[in-house]
Amino acid sequence: MVIATQAPPPIMSLRPDELREWLDARGQPAFRAKQVRGWLGRGAPSFEAMHDLPADLRAELAAGFRLSSLDPVAESEADRGQTTKLLYRLDGGYTVEAVTMRYPRRTTLCISSQVGCPIGCPFCATGQGRFGRNLQAHEIFDQALDASRREALSGRRLSHVVFMGMGEPMANYAPVVDSIRLLADPELLGISPRRVVVSTAGLVPRIAQLAEEKLPVTLAISLHAARDELRDYLVPINRRYPLAELVAAARDFARTTGRRVSYEWVVLAGVNDSDRDADELGRLLDPYLSHVNLIPWNPIEETEFKGPTRLSLARFADRIRSRGLNVTVRDTRGRDADAACGQLRARVLKGDGRDAEGAATGSEVDA
Ligand code: SAH
Ligand code: SF4
Repeated sequence: MVIATQAPPPIMSLRPDELREWLDARGQPAFRAKQVRGWLGRGAPSFEAMHDLPADLRAELAAGFRLSSLDPVAESEADRGQTTKLLYRLDGGYTVEAVTMRYPRRTTLCISSQVGCPIGCPFCATGQGRFGRNLQAHEIFDQALDASRREALSGRRLSHVVFMGMGEPMANYAPVVDSIRLLADPELLGISPRRVVVSTAGLVPRIAQLAEEKLPVTLAISLHAARDELRDYLVPINRRYPLAELVAAARDFARTTGRRVSYEWVVLAGVNDSDRDADELGRLLDPYLSHVNLIPWNPIEETEFKGPTRLSLARFADRIRSRGLNVTVRDTRGRDADAACGQLRARVLKGDGRDAEGAATGSEVDA
């Protein structure tokens, strides 16, 4: 008879008090919990490697827990190795992506908060697929833990985290906030909320709630249009929370937290990059409380959209600047790593077999 064995739980699915209890039941002192979490934060590759723990405890930990809830199934690199994109399989079979971007003085991880996204923006690969499920806090955090473990191998540290991967973080509110607290935990990664960006399509009540959390994160609003008629189409949640409400919520967030709000604008040629769009944006935002990031659209398959030319992008940026706003044109990290959210996953699910490292292709099942 074959007995199906269930995989042990991932270690980060335990709260600190649950880990202490587990250790206590094995006659271990309370400080062991701190030791285990410290090893996780420093990038220990296994429980075996936690060598100031007694050998029998290490064996029990290895038998009782998995080091991560995530199973890496595909990896691709871009920007001469400065960008790494990983596709992870979650328990239950869904997959999510995380992208590490290395710069001279910082290493930023872009993480996912949901499988797919319920908002359904037409220019976004994630929005085009079906919504799967919310990630739990430890599944979000494990993306950072895994990335920091990989960075530790080359003596680097993860310094920043942006919630700009798959999913709408404000539609998975409590686990996202819990994961930000885990990121900040000095026993683990110690990544201050000041180095975390939460990007949202604009769930107004959640923005107000986030302002009250006493978490000094940067809020990024994915605006993409400064008139309701266009934004209703580009970011469909706008039909529920129109621009006037969204900008008021962002202004309140800036006032309550003392932190300037970022506005993301994916530039789609001929759709939202005209003088009229720039002027409308200039009228909508308060220059003292906002910063505009222009993101050239990263092409995805099966859409009619087009990205801007270098010239039209520069002209659009200048026009917004002339309206008194701060503007940054963002680089397009990882274009050749399918960097726009949802793209590596979309390709692997299709199974066209182009994966770097020869990792799982067509066999991936989005159950
Ligand atoms: N759901 C959240 C966070 C994830 S998307 C949000 O929309 O803010 C992160 C950012 O990537 C958003 O600003 C989104 O508009 C942008 N984005 C999505 N698809 C893109 C593409 N193909 N090219 C460039 N940016 C894209
Ligand atoms: Fe969802 Fe953001 Fe993509 Fe829109 S852009 S579908 S909100 S992930």
